[in-house]
Amino acid sequence: MSSTSHVPAPLDATGLHIAAKLSAMIQCRTVSRPNRQDEDRAEFTKHVAVLNEHFPAIAGAVVQHTLGITGQLWHWRGADAAKPVVLMAHQDVVPVESEADWEHPPFAGLVADGRIHGRGTLDDKGDMACILQAADALAATGFIPGQDVYFFLGDCEETAGNTATEAVDFLRERGVTPWLVLDEGGAVAHQAFPGVKAPVGVIGVSEKGILDVLLEAHDAGGHASAPPAFGAVQRIARAIVRLQRKSFPANVHPVTGLMLKRLGSGAPALVRTGLGLLSRPGRAAGEVLARVGAEPAAMVRTTVATTELAGSDGINVLARRAAVTLNIRISVTESVDSVITGIRKRIADPKIKHTVLSASEPSPVSPVDCEQFALLEACMGHSHPEAIAVPYIMMAATDSRFFTGISGHVYRFAPLSMDKSQRGAIHGTNESVALAELVKGTAFYSRLLRSL
Ligand SMILES: [Zn+2]
Repeated sequence: MSSTSHVPAPLDATGLHIAAKLSAMIQCRTVSRPNRQDEDRAEFTKHVAVLNEHFPAIAGAVVQHTLGITGQLWHWRGADAAKPVVLMAHQDVVPVESEADWEHPPFAGLVADGRIHGRGTLDDKGDMACILQAADALAATGFIPGQDVYFFLGDCEETAGNTATEAVDFLRERGVTPWLVLDEGGAVAHQAFPGVKAPVGVIGVSEKGILDVLLEAHDAGGHASAPPAFGAVQRIARAIVRLQRKSFPANVHPVTGLMLKRLGSGAPALVRTGLGLLSRPGRAAGEVLARVGAEPAAMVRTTVATTELAGSDGINVLARRAAVTLNIRISVTESVDSVITGIRKRIADPKIKHTVLSASEPSPVSPVDCEQFALLEACMGHSHPEAIAVPYIMMAATDSRFFTGISGHVYRFAPLSMDKSQRGAIHGTNESVALAELVKGTAFYSRLLRSL
């Protein structure tokens, strides 16, 4: 499905025009792999060509830089360079486990039932199509943005590759300090919070840190007919139980407090009162939220998940080594070091060895009480007037965390609304986006670009 007309429709109320472009993007199998040699380079190259072909006005108005392998940093010179803006979306997608499980083929970009189907429609090509469509329509009229705009279209976000750091270095070397960085992350969520009927536009202002740790215990091993009272397996088991018994302290961060308070405005009186009580920053409300369920608990504390276990490899053989890996999500009030100290203290066993496999600190918290956040709220009020805008701290990681090194105003929000099943389809099966949402998303970015 390729669009031969390069004239952007000024009124694309149906979304079909932008869907045709997104379809061409979905048909490129830009699947990222941990080992980049396993990627299909031709598909990535084709994707960049598709962007140039389907968004010709903006592609011609910018200076294009290639970073990483096929990452794109496009510079659209504005009337002023004092408050540069970075708009981000990534070109790569996660693999499809089983194409047969999909209702529509994942790399066909088919339109059916008012939606466009395929891998990347929500994460993150739909968002990218909205950004580029908004810019393309403006550029076609000769529009020049009030400020410099950079479009960063990464090529290895899903595998946490290096292109984003290259983009940050590129901007830093040129003395660019972005006034605003906007990446994927939050969205307009339906049915996300019990008791809150209105859709909620969640804008990520920070990301929890991630820490992977390997715990190991060693022992003499031997034959299982004469087991010791306390071997390597018992030692690891005890450590796991201790970590589970003494979870990290729960704390309502002021951002989470503000989120709960704003959510209350869209809820019935009883729920509003409850949310008001829970929104008080500190330990008391944190402990209550931590008991509500796994998701509220993850909002208020550092979480420790025990994932891979290893022991002996024979049924009648004692383990010489027992091990467990921990996947830890660090709350923004803690650090990698403080969490490692906390883990050691909780395990209270010097015979257990720990190895840090990978670590990234929580991101600095971008302010809510500022022009940038107000601008995002205003654009959301334009595209999704029924939504309540709330700040939140993301549990997942995005490429935007690298940009906190050059900008104090990094936000994570894609202006597409999705319900629970669509959120579940991200990285899953039957990913799709409504055409009506592509129209709204484009309106969001158009408003943003015209407001600079
Ligand atoms: Zn993504």
